Amino acid sequence: MFDSITGSLRNSINKIRHKDDAAALKKATTELKKSLLKADVHHKTSKELITEVELETKKNGIGQDSFINALKKELNEILSTKGNQGFVFSNTPPTTILMTGLQGSGKTTTTGKLANYLKTRKKKVLVAACDLQRLAAVEQLKQIAQQVEVDIYFDDNEKDPVVIAKAAQEKAKKELYDVLLVDTAGRLAIDEELMNQLFEVKNAINPDEIFYVADSLTGHDATKTAITFKEKIGIDGVVLSKYDGDTKGGVALSIAHQVGVPLRFIGVGEKMPDLEVFIPDRIVSRLLGLGDMEGLAEKTSAVIDEKKAKEVSKKIKKGEFNFNDFLEQLAMMSKLGSMKSIIGMIPGLSQMAGPIKDMDFENSDEIKRIKAMIGSMTPKEREQPSLINPSRKRRIAKGSGLSDVQVNKILKQFKSASKMAKKLSSKGGMKGLSNMLG
Ligand code: GDP
Repeated sequence: MFDSITGSLRNSINKIRHKDDAAALKKATTELKKSLLKADVHHKTSKELITEVELETKKNGIGQDSFINALKKELNEILSTKGNQGFVFSNTPPTTILMTGLQGSGKTTTTGKLANYLKTRKKKVLVAACDLQRLAAVEQLKQIAQQVEVDIYFDDNEKDPVVIAKAAQEKAKKELYDVLLVDTAGRLAIDEELMNQLFEVKNAINPDEIFYVADSLTGHDATKTAITFKEKIGIDGVVLSKYDGDTKGGVALSIAHQVGVPLRFIGVGEKMPDLEVFIPDRIVSRLLGLGDMEGLAEKTSAVIDEKKAKEVSKKIKKGEFNFNDFLEQLAMMSKLGSMKSIIGMIPGLSQMAGPIKDMDFENSDEIKRIKAMIGSMTPKEREQPSLINPSRKRRIAKGSGLSDVQVNKILKQFKSASKMAKKLSSKGGMKGLSNMLG
């Protein structure tokens, strides 16, 4: 994420080395202009930003720190559009959100991500399948709803999205849902028919808010389309999808500044947990390559059950960590979302991380093998790995389709890993590790 804009913003900052060097400030702002244009920032946004950064730096005395502070302040100001932040619940449930956007923008995926976000916060969520335009959209939403375990309203025999939206709203009211998310049809480009249809759905259900899903990778077009949606049907918030693939990072600045509607969420990967609330100063921090530890802490605390974590660490201390615990830990990690989105939050790591950024831990061959092996164990064996003698090993190998050697290897690894974990936790962190290394 942002590798390219972060690098060029740093170049601009590095032009200023000494205090009160006006010529260096000029060089820095020229460099800044280049980086913003390269990052697809709208020229008006870029111009305003540069003027303000220059004024602010001069006001506080030219120097690298004051330049960085001015940059932070102005970037923050641009991204902080007046309006709601994150998800806002209405006083009269169900809070109804109309999800709009062009085809392929990530609208259906984002609907699922939002449902998941609300579900992990203990809300009762209904999604409505009103995208009758794209062939597989209803099927896709059904699968997503099942995956994140929320209810879905659909009607395979109905051709009119207005009827479906209304029926879904009825159901949500009657059955006391907290939130109703309505997935609507997209088109490859804006056309009258699409706008009319959205307008009809909007009038029929009178949503609390309309979210527009913008594909970060479409650069300036994302801004232009958002403006049209705002003019034609009115939008209350923008969700920027595919932010993880956006090395330029400028589209957030352009949309915030040019559209004048608050950015509410960002999509940072293909998986359901890969959605974050858009918080301007955190994005600024990431744009400047300073990471986002606060965001990371929030992400982990929403997913990690503290009581469970304590139980597991007790077990590790006693050397009782078993295969059931292992499976639980795996499931927890997958709730954190993709590695890429996590790495971007740790200061400096995204520049260092290289290939592990793209690693799909859950679907790696190694993890698949371990899962297959555990799947062939009896509940007792999972609880108490020490029970596994040679004849049990052979049975497990047969059942999982692995060779005896593979099973042996995994069991050995597991044994030595839990031994090491026990040593580390009993002797106390790094000291334990250095003792073990001799
Ligand atoms: P729709 O036509 O607007 O409903 O688009 P979809 O929801 O089907 O998404 C189109 C493609 O974009 C799918 O392959 C999604 O997995 C992918 N996608 C959506 N959001 C994100 C995101 O935040 N990051 C990444 N990397 N891919 C995304």
